[in-house]
Amino acid sequence: MQKDKDMFKPHSHNSPCPTCGKGTVKATIIQNYKTRIKGYPFTVPQACIGICDQCGERVFTAKETRRWGALFDQALEARHALLSPAEIARLRQRLGLSKKGFAHLLGVSLRSIHHWEDPERQTAPSRGADLVMRLVQQGLDAGSVDVIDFLLEEAKKWGVELQVQREVAA
Ligand SMILES: [Zn+2]
Repeated sequence: MQKDKDMFKPHSHNSPCPTCGKGTVKATIIQNYKTRIKGYPFTVPQACIGICDQCGERVFTAKETRRWGALFDQALEARHALLSPAEIARLRQRLGLSKKGFAHLLGVSLRSIHHWEDPERQTAPSRGADLVMRLVQQGLDAGSVDVIDFLLEEAKKWGVELQVQREVAA
């Protein structure tokens, strides 16, 4: 995690509050800040948030939230939450597809497939792309898959409990 600390740069100056107009937004470091990234619970080890000294309004910079997104992605890779490069290559081969064909099947760029299958990858699939590939894998393994049940189970693994209706179109 040393690498992340080096990248960490608190706001260089304070600014007037955009909400109350009276207070000053001060850069504040919060340890273990609980938030959601793409809807999933995530704890940022060291978050830099602007907090108004009058109304308490919280201001987030785009740069800081981007950093959280990157930390989130790294955490997923670290705990193998996404299909690994080898698993993706294997899935593609089971389908008998070239990288180009697999890209067309998934509706992604050829570049993405190259990135995802690279053993030293810097770019992992998005959660959405990972889910589609897992669905394909499940379809191959089991012959068929209840898509909604599958997605609900996957969400649960990420700490998200969802209730859905199954209204059939008339
Ligand atoms: Zn304020």
